[in-house]
Amino acid sequence: MSVVALAGGVGAARFLEGLVRVVPPEEVTVIVNTGDDMANFMGLYISPDLDIVTYTLAGIVDPEKGWGIKGDTTRALSMLQELGFETWFTLGDRDLGTHIARTAMLQQGWSLSKATQVISHSLGVRCQLFPMTEKWVPTRIVTDVGLLHFEEYLVKRQARDNVEDVIFDGIESAEPSPGILDAIQHAETLIICPSNPIVSIGPILAVPGIKEAIVEASAPCVGVSPIIGGKPVKGPADKLMEGKGVEVSAKGVAEFYREFLDILVIDQKDKSLTPKIEELGVNAVVEQTLLTSMERKKQLARTVLAAARNKKSKS
Ligand code: GDP
Repeated sequence: MSVVALAGGVGAARFLEGLVRVVPPEEVTVIVNTGDDMANFMGLYISPDLDIVTYTLAGIVDPEKGWGIKGDTTRALSMLQELGFETWFTLGDRDLGTHIARTAMLQQGWSLSKATQVISHSLGVRCQLFPMTEKWVPTRIVTDVGLLHFEEYLVKRQARDNVEDVIFDGIESAEPSPGILDAIQHAETLIICPSNPIVSIGPILAVPGIKEAIVEASAPCVGVSPIIGGKPVKGPADKLMEGKGVEVSAKGVAEFYREFLDILVIDQKDKSLTPKIEELGVNAVVEQTLLTSMERKKQLARTVLAAARNKKSKS
């Protein structure tokens, strides 16, 4: 049973924690968004979504925040502040070790995929994590105060600016990381994790070749809606969806992915949207999708896999 999942950060990581407990992790390939990456922040290459997924699957994530390492300290950051540097982006002390290691590997000439493999496997992650591409393709948000890197928009300015557009800088000439297209083509199940459709899944789909491979793949494609009751569980998905003219609802999510999505798992709160979603040619499956316990995470993963199996047996 080979499973390929497209993932952003926190929402995806919570879902994947359940998935790797109901299928052997070695059979799971995760393609992670790298549009949020900062290529030279204080001299370091930082890949927020890869780190969130890695720390979560390694069991060391800060469970409250959903990012960073539990129990981590910020003494290096305090020193940076004393030295007069900007400290809007939290860098934990142990977390810094990851950024230094990744940067060192890249400077040595290793690819981001290879660095990701070394970091994730060293921390005990047993599934395969891939960056969507090896190239740095920063997501930039066009706002009423100008063009902002996604992390500047989200963290430094707390998502307060009006979103006019979203740009995936340089994506036209990016290539999927080696092995990704093959994994999609041979997958038995494709999953779109509960992540921000515009800035987490959007960049992955925009890497030339990835969306096309998903459209052509024979495996059923199942998504989980990150929108529950017309609102994101966390983060600015609503503002970004509005900025791109996508309805902020589970139906909007189905519409956004309709070109390749067979099934969307929606929350019980959104049950009444079922007919509207099915009118789009996407089957709706209702489940509790708020991932507040490991049991819920495993249950959601089981529901996603059962929906895929059901689809396969009908086709
Ligand atoms: P991040 O924004 O880079 O951390 O990464 P994501 O895009 O993966 O995470 C944000 C998205 O995940 C938001 O749209 C949330 O609504 C969604 N999300 C977070 N937690 C949950 C959850 O427990 N259930 C569901 N269905 N979605 C979630």
